[in-house]
Amino acid sequence: MSDRIHLSRAHVTEVEEKYVLDALRSGWVAPLGPMVDRFEREIAERCGVAGALALSSGTAALHLALLDVGAAPDTVVVLPSMTFAASANAVAYTGAEPVFVDSAEDANIDVDLLVETVSALQNEGRTVAAVMTVDLFGRACDYTALGSRLDDLGVPLIEDAAEALGATHAGRPAGSFGRAAALSFNGNKIMTTSGGGMLLSDDTDLLDRARYLSTQARQPAAWYEHTEIGYNYRMSNILAALGIGQLERLDSMISRRREIRSRYAAGLADVDGVTFLGRDQGGDAEDNYWLTCITLDPAKITSDPTAVMAGLDAAGIEARHVWKPMHLQPVHADRRAALTGVSERLFATGVTLPSGSELTDDQIDRVISETRLLLEAR
Ligand SMILES: *Cc1c(COP(=O)(O)O)cnc(C)c1O
Repeated sequence: MSDRIHLSRAHVTEVEEKYVLDALRSGWVAPLGPMVDRFEREIAERCGVAGALALSSGTAALHLALLDVGAAPDTVVVLPSMTFAASANAVAYTGAEPVFVDSAEDANIDVDLLVETVSALQNEGRTVAAVMTVDLFGRACDYTALGSRLDDLGVPLIEDAAEALGATHAGRPAGSFGRAAALSFNGNKIMTTSGGGMLLSDDTDLLDRARYLSTQARQPAAWYEHTEIGYNYRMSNILAALGIGQLERLDSMISRRREIRSRYAAGLADVDGVTFLGRDQGGDAEDNYWLTCITLDPAKITSDPTAVMAGLDAAGIEARHVWKPMHLQPVHADRRAALTGVSERLFATGVTLPSGSELTDDQIDRVISETRLLLEAR
């Protein structure tokens, strides 16, 4: 492979090789098997929930969670504008209308604006089937500020924790805050099964129903009997084996990503106008450090993110914009959104730096020195 420095690559070792080989040799190749059961138990324990359902993607987990709380045509699901498209796609699959809410300064959803928006919708007579929070870039939302305010409004919470496995908020694991939560094991997430996801919940009835829907909604009969439409959403035994190996190494991968963020912070500390998302707003001790994002204050730095990324690209370094807000996406152009301007500002000023746990100190130092060259003081 080239010596290009990537944003966040799958980081796989002999540990994973052994589990995958064991799964292959055991004869449990597909679809389900003991590795799936074990992976579900271990993830549920890690996230402090009663149960987990291994699926083919995080998007599938969100879809099933939303179906369970009754997201459907003529209902609304309120979610952050700044997120990956999958969060909003899952809402659209159900036929519910996504309504977007702007960010707080750390990019996560603005909790006060969220509660206000839900109340306003209810006052208009709309049925808010769910709120979906997203724990962005590996940082949990401010669930302390959210408290029981959604319970008071009678609206269930679905937690999109796809980016946040291993993070906590007030000591409680990401993935344990909603009635149901979704994790992703996509290729560039904090850990991977090459592709996969997990639905988490304390509600075993919810998980049972999701399990049934995830396997084509087959009724318990001797033949293939179906009374409703289902999905093909389960994870295979081979991929679960990869997940078990990754989970064994999760803490070491999080530590490495934490070291990388600290190295960036030290290496850019004297550059006026650079802010670290999360780290510079209340601290990031509980994050999983999935991606390190900086923002460039245009009052102090003339180079904009697009120019910085192009310069880094020419130097063999992959950097990215932060998520482009959903209310700016052509596909959601006519959707309702509660806006303050924060997510647009973060999108206009944010740069996501290479953050993968396989990156060496030398590679991070190269990113730091190239970035410093590209940041011109005003
Ligand atoms: C990655 C991601 C997902 C989707 O996960 P997949 O496993 O790729 O389907 C959902 N939401 C967010 C915020 C994500 O970053």
